[in-house]
Amino acid sequence: MRRAALALLLSLAGAALAADYAGPLFDAHLHYNEEAWNGKSGPHPPADAVARMQRNGVRAILSNSRPNDGTHTLAGSPEARRAGVAVVPFVRLYRNRADYDNWFREETIYAMVQSELARGTAAGPYRGIGEFHLYDSANANGPVARKLMALAEEKQLAVLAHVDDTAIDLLMANTPSKGQKVRLVWAHTGIGGTPAARVDQLLARYPGLLGELSYRPGLTCDAGKLCPEWRALLLKYPGRFVVGSDTWVNQRWESYDATMRGYRTWLGDLPADVARKIAWDNAASLFGTKQP
Ligand SMILES: [Zn+2]
Repeated sequence: MRRAALALLLSLAGAALAADYAGPLFDAHLHYNEEAWNGKSGPHPPADAVARMQRNGVRAILSNSRPNDGTHTLAGSPEARRAGVAVVPFVRLYRNRADYDNWFREETIYAMVQSELARGTAAGPYRGIGEFHLYDSANANGPVARKLMALAEEKQLAVLAHVDDTAIDLLMANTPSKGQKVRLVWAHTGIGGTPAARVDQLLARYPGLLGELSYRPGLTCDAGKLCPEWRALLLKYPGRFVVGSDTWVNQRWESYDATMRGYRTWLGDLPADVARKIAWDNAASLFGTKQP
């Protein structure tokens, strides 16, 4: 009996040490695209999308969508307001799929961004531009890409960019401060597996660079816990990482619970203050979001 009690106590202590992160989450990479819900039909109307956030403790979202109507819908949705989910709107550069490969040189997209910025959303002014993609890093020097980076710095808009490490340097070079002032959320922090040492170098070089960690290769190892190299990087730069769902296809909405559970597992592997920063504080302080 006594031995059983001791064993129970030890197993409870072990569970406490390995407890998942239980605080609020800021989903810093969310899409509400037209196939999720186009305003009339779709598997994930606002009530469904917001319920997924709510049951996962997601209290704020960086929202963008193709086209921007989805973000307008969430920003004005009574469901999000009732659930206490803060919507931080970003202007998406894509009106349709064809824009993915053309936005960096397409003047009509620059004009669309200007008119969206002037319009704002029901949740307030836009706070950033993106997500945009560069499949060839050299296109970071396209005429519209250059103008958008300069605009972001000038208007203090953050940027959400799915690019490689070479493009980070090129995009930063296209701002008036050469990357010393603009805030850039690096979607996936190098989805092609940019080495941790190179990520470290870029974080050191650009004070406004933050790494978003969805789909990041090499981040987690056994049992969904952090790999040693990435754990060390997160501990070295606790103020520079955020997490996101990247609901780029409906499948990601369907697995939203699993994605957030995955984050809570490895966040639980970090000191409590560091976990809280990556889960919430870093994104919340970037956008001045109220504590839930
Ligand atoms: Zn995305």
